Formats: sequence, structure tokens, C-alpha cells
Amino acid sequence: MHEMALGQGLVDALVEQSRVHGFAEVRAVKLAVGALGHVEPDALAFCFDVVSAGTLAEGAVLEIERPEGTAHCMGCGSDVTIMSRVDPCPLCGGFRLMITGGEDMKIRELEVR
Ligand SMILES: [Zn+2]
Repeated sequence: MHEMALGQGLVDALVEQSRVHGFAEVRAVKLAVGALGHVEPDALAFCFDVVSAGTLAEGAVLEIERPEGTAHCMGCGSDVTIMSRVDPCPLCGGFRLMITGGEDMKIRELEVR
């Protein structure tokens, strides 16, 4: 389950941030998980709860946004938004899409103390 590794990576990032910015506790994390990434938000939330136990992020509320993916259609030349890798171009129905965004996971906001 690679969400466990991602949850751990997230906690590591929070610990790192706390060193840089000098906070002692994370109360809420707003994450953006691109709709085209291979991350299951529910699984990630579960894993985050597990790996954050005993850290400064224990009990933090994890809020996950799913920004749409973006792609460039080679068929009609448009830049479009899609919610899944297997979606066709919403404009021309073509399948020759080059993914240009929406695959990564980013921390959007932190509520700290
Ligand atoms: Zn198209």
C-alpha cells in the first residue's frame, strides 16, 4: 500500500516545516491530491492517522482536495481538464491526450500552533 509511504512522507514534511517555521503542533492539513495521481484519498487519510501518531501531527485533521487533471489534446490542439486518465478529450472525443498536470500531491495549507 503506497499510501503508507505517502503518509509517512507527509509527516516527514510537516516535521521539516516545523523546524523551519518553529511551530509545535499541526492541527489541520489541507492537501491537494491531483485527480490523475495514483492516490486513494481515503486510504491516505487512514495511513496519515496511523503514521502521525506520536508526532506533532497526531490528531491533525486531513482535508483532501481533488484538483482536476489537465491535459493537452493532440487531436484538436486544446488544453482541457479531465478527471481520469482514461477520459477522452471533452472537446473532440479523442484519446490522444498528453497529461500536463494533476498528478502530484501538494500541501496547500497548514493550521499550526
Ligand atoms: Zn481534443
